[in-house]
Amino acid sequence: MKASDLKKDIKVRLEAAGIPDAETDTRILMKEYAHVSVSDLYADPDLELADSFSRDDLEKAMELRVKRVPLQHILGRTCFMGFDFTVSPAALIPRPDTEILAEEALMDYHDGSRILDLCTGSGCIIISLLALMNDCYGVATDISKDALSLAEKNASDILGEKKDRLRFFEGDLYSAVPEGEKFEMIVSNPPYIRTADMKGLMPEVKDHDPALALDGGEDGLVFYRRIIEGAGDHLCPGGDLILEIGYDQAGDVTEIMKANKFIEVRTIKDFGGCDRVVRGILSSL
Ligand code: GLN
Repeated sequence: MKASDLKKDIKVRLEAAGIPDAETDTRILMKEYAHVSVSDLYADPDLELADSFSRDDLEKAMELRVKRVPLQHILGRTCFMGFDFTVSPAALIPRPDTEILAEEALMDYHDGSRILDLCTGSGCIIISLLALMNDCYGVATDISKDALSLAEKNASDILGEKKDRLRFFEGDLYSAVPEGEKFEMIVSNPPYIRTADMKGLMPEVKDHDPALALDGGEDGLVFYRRIIEGAGDHLCPGGDLILEIGYDQAGDVTEIMKANKFIEVRTIKDFGGCDRVVRGILSSL
């Protein structure tokens, strides 16, 4: 069978199942199961599938995908900041949007900084930061034991020898942070969906990401208030707080930061042009 015919077949079936952006999923499935990339097809439009191609494995994956199981759960992994993270239903799937937060943190750290990641989930933020920064130390907290086990696995896989620089604690936001520890930087992608909006989410998110990682309370701002109000006790004066936000939350989050001794508060957009990150500096006055 020609690889291009298989590609057409996958795409038609995904489109018929109403999968958004079926072309991207088709390309990923082709690469994963038929070991054929888009450039292979450009190079040779008549390329035949290899004998080793297993139709059964592809069919199992297709069956799940048409039921709207996220591709990342089917493959068991996703790429974040260039690293391969294991994903599972225990934590939010790392999103490209969150890379904006990680990039912001990378722009302003100092060697030797201590960084706190609240609601670490898969650990994608703190693990990529420590992998890419020099000499930094991290503390990551999450209320979910299962999420922390996943994050610990990711830390061992990705950080190698640097993994001793990162400690994980189970608990609700700051309550899990060891007494008296202070940080130069706090990062978080907290749950921020308004409770009433939860039922309108796409099936991949609503049925497969943990609600605990999404639900930000009635106005979606519950975690921002708690994180920002508690930051003064954990951040060194002059330290950075960097938060991922929903597209319409920049105004509210900025206001809460300004009311809690944060200065130079600014918003950063994602590549889709939506407000995605708010950051500020804790005033030393
Ligand atoms: N920090 C994790 C992420 O960005 C999990 C966030 C969450 O659970 N809200 O993917």
